[in-house]
Amino acid sequence: MIGTTQKPLEEILAALAEYQKIAVVGCDGCAKVCLTGGSEQVEELAGRLRKEGKRVVLEATPERTCYVDKSHTKLDPYVDQLTEAEAVIVLGCGGAVQITRQVTEELGLTIPVKTALDSVGHMDTLVSGELAMEQCQECGECILNETGGICPVTKCAKGLLNGPCGGAESGKCEVDPQRDCAWILIYNRMAALGELDKLKRFMAPKDYSKMAKPRILNIKEKKVA
Ligand code: SF4
Ligand code: SF4
Repeated sequence: MIGTTQKPLEEILAALAEYQKIAVVGCDGCAKVCLTGGSEQVEELAGRLRKEGKRVVLEATPERTCYVDKSHTKLDPYVDQLTEAEAVIVLGCGGAVQITRQVTEELGLTIPVKTALDSVGHMDTLVSGELAMEQCQECGECILNETGGICPVTKCAKGLLNGPCGGAESGKCEVDPQRDCAWILIYNRMAALGELDKLKRFMAPKDYSKMAKPRILNIKEKKVA
């Protein structure tokens, strides 16, 4: 299970500041267990967003948002609402956010997909199929809002936060030419979103004390010890 905690409302609102029509997507898997992203929390966040003057065009909670097929099953029937949305906010782990982005892209949509949660630990394993790509290291300080929904901490071989190392060739990583360079993926994604200017910022080093293990998630108190 991926443990998650909800970001402060002001941080969520800051991520959505430029957008008015919002789709809220939850997760009936781990995030439901953590009381951060089930249907109840989706309804709660949608209500808060409405109070802040946003227009919520969709509330949907896939059975397991990190599973591509389950997200498609839930979200595909709402392609009209997703098309209307200016942004999607996901109450799910870093993997769920990235799978939601992937699903919107596979639906032919280019819309920002933002996260409302911080992923704080891979609390146990939910694996299906033969191969699974790592999506998130649950760093406890999610930066997907700044990187087009693609995680450089996990998908860049060097975990670089402020752009590429310069060693990529033909879009592939110098460490493993079988893999895409994460920063080229991020650049292309930000270009598609028309948000390249947002890459001209300095990302401070991460606070790795938040990754000190073993972490213990107190679900009731919604915090990490
Ligand atoms: S920045 Fe990456 S590793 Fe950290 S929580 Fe977000 S997706 Fe996970
Ligand atoms: S080539 Fe790209 S993914 Fe590989 S280490 Fe350099 S920046 Fe990271």
